[in-house]
Amino acid sequence: MADKKKDAKKSEGPIKKHTTSNRQKNYESGKAKNRFCPKCGPGVMLADHKDRLYCGKCHYMEKK
Ligand SMILES: [Zn+2]
Repeated sequence: MADKKKDAKKSEGPIKKHTTSNRQKNYESGKAKNRFCPKCGPGVMLADHKDRLYCGKCHYMEKK
């Protein structure tokens, strides 16, 4: 029997904006999950790939 326990709590409170909650999640975890682009500056996050970070704005790439 595969009984997976899922902690999927549905908060049925006021609807929050997706963008804001996403950003807050990164800050709440203590360390910013994604790093900011050194070229574009803070505000532009690097996309987290398997073994590298990538900036979709200026195409900056950083190896992990
Ligand atoms: Zn950039």
